Amino acid sequence: MRFNVERIRTDFPILNREVNGKSLVYLDNAATSQTPNQVIDVIVDYYRRLNANIHRGVHTLSQEATDAYEEARIKIQKHFNIAKSHEVILTSGTTHSINLVASGFSSYLSKDDEILVSAMEHHSNIVPWQMLCERTGAVLKVIPMNQNGELVMEDFHKLISERTKLVFCNHVSNALGTINPIEEIIKASHKVGAAVLVDGAQAAPHIKADLQALDVDFYTISAHKVCGPTGVGMLYGKEFWLKKLPPYQGGGEMIAEVTFDKTTYADLPHKFEAGTPNICGGIAFGAALDYMNSLGFDDIAVYEHELLEYATSELLKIEGLKIYGTAKNKTSVISFNIEHIHPYDIGTILDKLGIAVRTGHHCAQPIMDFYKIPGTVRASFSFYNTMEEVDVLVEGVKRAKNMLL
Ligand SMILES: *Cc1c(COP(=O)(O)O)cnc(C)c1O
Repeated sequence: MRFNVERIRTDFPILNREVNGKSLVYLDNAATSQTPNQVIDVIVDYYRRLNANIHRGVHTLSQEATDAYEEARIKIQKHFNIAKSHEVILTSGTTHSINLVASGFSSYLSKDDEILVSAMEHHSNIVPWQMLCERTGAVLKVIPMNQNGELVMEDFHKLISERTKLVFCNHVSNALGTINPIEEIIKASHKVGAAVLVDGAQAAPHIKADLQALDVDFYTISAHKVCGPTGVGMLYGKEFWLKKLPPYQGGGEMIAEVTFDKTTYADLPHKFEAGTPNICGGIAFGAALDYMNSLGFDDIAVYEHELLEYATSELLKIEGLKIYGTAKNKTSVISFNIEHIHPYDIGTILDKLGIAVRTGHHCAQPIMDFYKIPGTVRASFSFYNTMEEVDVLVEGVKRAKNMLL
């Protein structure tokens, strides 16, 4: 049976709303995804029926909330085929996860060590490493990209050496949609003894990653990009690394024993989960993965690819329109500009028509510098978008062009 997008759309109440008197066409999925009733209900139910602090209380509510939270951890573990549930650290999101790892490596790096990052990283996968280099004297090197928005892998193989200690790359670029060859990056990095962190924030809505098969050292995602709530996410780390790295924050939950002379830390995963976590968010994160799995990632990928192909070919019919990011392997993200028009002006007119796109540098300024542009208009499609919405976008872009030129 064909992907039943009309039925799926009934799960998302927000898709029925109007914006500026028009039906909302939501094409900013790379920034955040919408939330289905199945997840909203879990959030409401949590505060109506379950709300209590976890891991400490003997009372029934606390135990039930703890069970639901730990069940979510197991769902995340299974989804990513992670070997041990304590290798799943629940964080506030990708940014938090990356900073936790960057901070942890402070004491393991020194001058002359090298860190490689790809040229198409989100700022959250650039700035923490620059800060780490400032603290340790390590040197940051960049894996370059080509005009299509693909990493230049020959250069990567030249850059990596015995001096390389850490390699960072996103699985999918949020600005261009490129799917990066992370298998090759992980294998080559391990050969020289470097650890690899893959930022999976943009991949997670499209690709179900098998983290044991990938053999990656760290993998990060944010729940709000996979139909879950904001403010919660995952850090996967191999047990070896999570045992080795020091805690990131001190506080309640993360200790075994505290005296004024000495504190010993709790076992994994609690060592990295100081303070009261986003309990409701964690439970809803699990529900969001359940929802996406009920649709099936293979079917999602096929359908989103149809949307991508159709939107690409229709947009390219507009004279003067250029798409940035034309990698062979990409997800349903289209970054574009029209000659002589600022992306912000296109975005503003599209909003008047009820169409939500992102304009600007998409937290990836180095990519914009590479193409020598101030930013792009980015339309990013999800499985709940339709071919009709692609038509509305294309008509809207044509209209914007006529008004602005
Ligand atoms: C969204 C995104 C991030 C940041 O995620 P937060 O939820 O804001 O922490 C990092 N990297 C990529 C590739 C992203 O798409």
